[in-house]
Amino acid sequence: MRYISTRGGIDPISFTEAVMMGLAADGGLLLPDPLPSVDSATLDEWKDLSYPKLALKIMGLFVDDLSDKELEALIHDAYTTFDTPDITPIVKVGKHYVLELFHGPTLAFKDVALQVLGNLFSLLLRKSGENMNILGATSGDTGSAAIYGVRGKDNINIFILHPKGRVSKVQGLQMTTVPEKNVFNIAVQGTFDDCQAIVKAIFNQLDFKARYHLGSINSINWARVLAQVVYYVYAALKVKEQTGAGSINFSVPTGNFGDIFAGYVARRLIQPNIGRLILATNENNILTRFVLQGRYAKSKVIPTISPSMDIQVASNFERYLYYLYNQEPERIKQAFIFLDQKDEIIISQEERARVRKDFASASIDQASTITTIRDIYKETGYILDPHTAVGVAAAERLGPDLPKGPTICLATAHPAKFPEAVRKAIGREPERPESLKGIESRPSRCEILAAEVDAVKNYIVKHAL
Ligand SMILES: *Cc1c(COP(=O)(O)O)cnc(C)c1O
Repeated sequence: MRYISTRGGIDPISFTEAVMMGLAADGGLLLPDPLPSVDSATLDEWKDLSYPKLALKIMGLFVDDLSDKELEALIHDAYTTFDTPDITPIVKVGKHYVLELFHGPTLAFKDVALQVLGNLFSLLLRKSGENMNILGATSGDTGSAAIYGVRGKDNINIFILHPKGRVSKVQGLQMTTVPEKNVFNIAVQGTFDDCQAIVKAIFNQLDFKARYHLGSINSINWARVLAQVVYYVYAALKVKEQTGAGSINFSVPTGNFGDIFAGYVARRLIQPNIGRLILATNENNILTRFVLQGRYAKSKVIPTISPSMDIQVASNFERYLYYLYNQEPERIKQAFIFLDQKDEIIISQEERARVRKDFASASIDQASTITTIRDIYKETGYILDPHTAVGVAAAERLGPDLPKGPTICLATAHPAKFPEAVRKAIGREPERPESLKGIESRPSRCEILAAEVDAVKNYIVKHAL
């Protein structure tokens, strides 16, 4: 499989090169070319596979420069850190299916991909004998999942930027209490979009990126999207089997468009088994406005009780736009120049119609999020985290307009990561899983820096491998 850039400015590269490059050298995002698809006979053979075995089949379609043995070992190692052999169990909650993606070490869906990516980096560096300095921005969950993916690994240092005071208490502690010496946390005096912009600016300085062997763990890294494709297929096959349905809808709480883009790739991969993808947003609803009005227009970030979705500039959106623009890199370049100048991208009537075949969308405010947590708890005893609740609320609101078939709501975090919101909804906090017990009393480390590219670069220079 060869990988190309959405902006057309690089020669095709291999999977390994794509993983190491992160952001494409021309500022675009990397994509497999062509997108594969799987026929129904093959899907039939896959339907009883365990999660790791299915992951090997699916990832194998996109990776041809690692041996089956290497891929199998790294998938195996990644998922032994999960607390259930199902990896991503599906539970029936009222009339919905909930796909629990929070059984990894940091209790959010990002573990599913970042455990794989950590092991993948480690394998590739072992093979090449090189070092890597990982640089990433987090709205809360990516940081801890990435840190847990590489803590204590040889040849890797990790630098994670988070917006100071804008991640939940538990999220902050999960990052800053990891004692391994290869872990560096930076609290930036700004928003997540500032953090992401700094990281992007540094990755765009190609000499700096090369000198310090910078690696990326944000969802601009193709390997993350790829690892997430697996659970869509896994869940669709399981729920089809249980219900006999022809096609399945998914509801996806969305921030940076990474998770739902994995859903888009899965939908193309196993057409026509996935019906509609529900793009569920909180009050930061740039993507909902895009789906409903055909206009992608930046505005200010509003802090909410689902902080991992408090994002305006969705970095993976470019990948979707590439397909919407019939794979024409020139149009992508123009669109992003326009976005820089005018703060918006506008699509045509015909393109809008196509977007609405792929996605339905709703923006759920904080009051409705709380009500949803409360109602579902009253009806079923199940506690949703606030991100998952946004997805469930969107599925309920859009229900009548969706293609026929069951809807699977992605549960992106364990409710114990967001105890304040849960308490507001149901009057008590969820029980803490083992990994969070006593976290407040562990020693914690963090550097505070201004929201400036140079401040972050200087810090990296001082502490890089
Ligand atoms: C990161 C995150 C999201 C948003 O995922 P994207 O891939 O950025 O769209 C939703 N919920 C939780 C709990 C998250 O950590």
